[in-house]
Amino acid sequence: MSEQAQQILQRVFGFSQFRLQQDEIIAQLQNGGEALVLMPTGGGKSLCYQIPALIREGTGLVVSPLIALMQDQVNALQQLGVRAAYLNSSLSQQEAQSVELQLRQGELDLLYVAPERLMMPRMLSLLECTKIALFAIDEAHCVSQWGHDFRPEYIQLSVLHERFPEVPRIALTATADTPTRREIIQRLALEDAKIFVSGFDRPNIRYRISENQGNARDRLLRFIRNEHDGEAGIVYCLSRKRVDETAAWLSSKGLDAIPYHAGMSAQDRQQNQARFLREDGVIIVATIAFGMGIDKPDVRFVAHMNLPKSLEAYYQETGRAGRDGLPADAWMIYGLQDVIMLKQMQENSDTDEAHKRVERHKLDAMLGFCELTSCRRQALLRYFDDHLDEPCGNCDTCIEPPETWDATVAAQKALSCVHRTGQRFGVNYVVDVLLGKDNSRIQGFGHDQLSTFGIGKELDQNDWRNLFRQLISRGLLKVDIEAYGGLQLTETSRPVLRGEQALHLRKFVKSSKTKSKTRKTSNVYGKVADEKLWEALRELRADLARQQGVPAYVIFHDATLMEMVERQPQTGPQLATITGVGERKLEAYGDDFLEVINNHLSETSAPPVDTADETLQLFRLGMNAESISQQRGLTPSTIYSHLASAIQKGDAELQDVTGLEESTLITLRNAIDQYAEEGRLKPVYEALGEEYDYNILRCVKASMQGEVI
Ligand code: ADP
Ligand code: ZN
Repeated sequence: MSEQAQQILQRVFGFSQFRLQQDEIIAQLQNGGEALVLMPTGGGKSLCYQIPALIREGTGLVVSPLIALMQDQVNALQQLGVRAAYLNSSLSQQEAQSVELQLRQGELDLLYVAPERLMMPRMLSLLECTKIALFAIDEAHCVSQWGHDFRPEYIQLSVLHERFPEVPRIALTATADTPTRREIIQRLALEDAKIFVSGFDRPNIRYRISENQGNARDRLLRFIRNEHDGEAGIVYCLSRKRVDETAAWLSSKGLDAIPYHAGMSAQDRQQNQARFLREDGVIIVATIAFGMGIDKPDVRFVAHMNLPKSLEAYYQETGRAGRDGLPADAWMIYGLQDVIMLKQMQENSDTDEAHKRVERHKLDAMLGFCELTSCRRQALLRYFDDHLDEPCGNCDTCIEPPETWDATVAAQKALSCVHRTGQRFGVNYVVDVLLGKDNSRIQGFGHDQLSTFGIGKELDQNDWRNLFRQLISRGLLKVDIEAYGGLQLTETSRPVLRGEQALHLRKFVKSSKTKSKTRKTSNVYGKVADEKLWEALRELRADLARQQGVPAYVIFHDATLMEMVERQPQTGPQLATITGVGERKLEAYGDDFLEVINNHLSETSAPPVDTADETLQLFRLGMNAESISQQRGLTPSTIYSHLASAIQKGDAELQDVTGLEESTLITLRNAIDQYAEEGRLKPVYEALGEEYDYNILRCVKASMQGEVI
């Protein structure tokens, strides 16, 4: 692997290791080769072209359809000290000219361009007299006419290859399926490109799906309040009307929720999107018009109030959660009504039969996914030809395996009742007949005389609706749209009806029951060791972001702040070892953040001498660092720092503090001797396979300094 790439990763981005296949992809481009990259959202696609653009001579051109996001992307790069700019229709003529001048003078490392802009003859001739490092074609699936993000301008991008045959290209997408991949290669003439496919798993996303019991909104509210209080999230609804209602309702309950859909004015939409991106903890309620390429890293949940029409859509929409790798939820609630509506929409659409067949197959896969009784992640990955050996342990069916029941007899009753009422009625009516409801409509049709009238009293209405949904999902019943949603038998219903095929289905779970079993943590950040410091750091970050008019995460990600809380760096070199702190940000913000941390430490541990003494006394009483930390309400690293100085002064024994064998301690001392760079322990920590935490290493180091003195 290239040393240069590794250095840039560390120095500019503040990351210590490449992820997935980043290093191979970068090497491929660096040497002038081409690449097609399929990597899940949050996998780290951007670095794959940003680093080679920095290494290679000239400007890297990034083609992206996401005009609204270019400014944030460019801001984020500038924060890192990268010379980046963008060209799109939002710039004034003067601004655009100034960017073009920079480009011509070779003053840009990266330039983001909208595809239609790039294809303008003027732009192309400008590029001809410019040194270009590479072309990066982001969201490359937009070239696919089958996909729902099709952009006609993308088709023309094949021109790049013809006009600039010597400039390497990299196409990137998070879209998983093979037909799209083939289409990208063909349309962009990427036959010689090396293909990099990373797995599609998003292990930090927890998949959860449950049945709508008529209280979807309440359940949504409870979910957000209980598990994502104050956090950013996306709520997807099917219609504009539902978007408006849901946003208004959540707001009335005191949540910071705003709507987004195509029926709003461009300005309102723009404004709401900007608030969602820039501020902490905003919930956006949207139709699926929202979200393409949203690269906000700290979206903690995506909630679906309706069923997406395919697993591709589900994967893409839920994928917007947790790009930063911290835990996130994909939460969905769906019901019989969704199933019927999607089936209707599909049959009514005026595409040809071949297309319909594909869509029907996709919807069936989606429905099957909802009704699963085994690991959802395994099924999802299997659908994309990916593979997971063991059940994931991080989806609802793994955490709380659903009960199944033998529904054969109930299904027979249901199917038979559909048959006897003439295959003309909808679910509600048939259920009423099964329950033997006393109503005039039933009497009017004489259905109170049927043998199936009232034979279903062992189940209640919800149970029956749940059963019907599963029968429709499995294709045992179909919904006749022409006849106003009347249910009809299908070929596959006969064996069940005749009792030749048994049916095991998910048991209906009342929502009050599920509630008690879901996790209780208030939110993802509930885990941070030191809430006060966390809040102080967030406040500083928000101030800095406001001053510069950039989103908070552009300053530092949550994960970076969490690591600061965890490790409490007190000097510049210590701060530099935190993930996400590169050279430039250290210079720009280091002092501010260190000040907050050091103030916080002196407040919580003042007066320093006494507090260290107190720790030592408790230690002498036989308590270990963990229990002292609990008793004193101080973080373990504070306690360890007290103990480390005691070790250095000879007031405590290293072996007593760490509880480690002498032989292990010798290994650790040798590792520090060998790997510590200018006193930094990070290389040591890594050389030891991250097996010993920093607290232990600091104590060992302190004991060595004791020797020297
Ligand atoms: P994608 O475009 O694939 O969805 P991004 O390029 O936006 O993903 O990266 C997702 C997040 O992961 C970003 O916050 C980025 O800073 C971070 N990231 C990328 N590569 C690394 C790495 N090697 N180490 C640590 N963080 C990384
Ligand atoms: Zn699972």
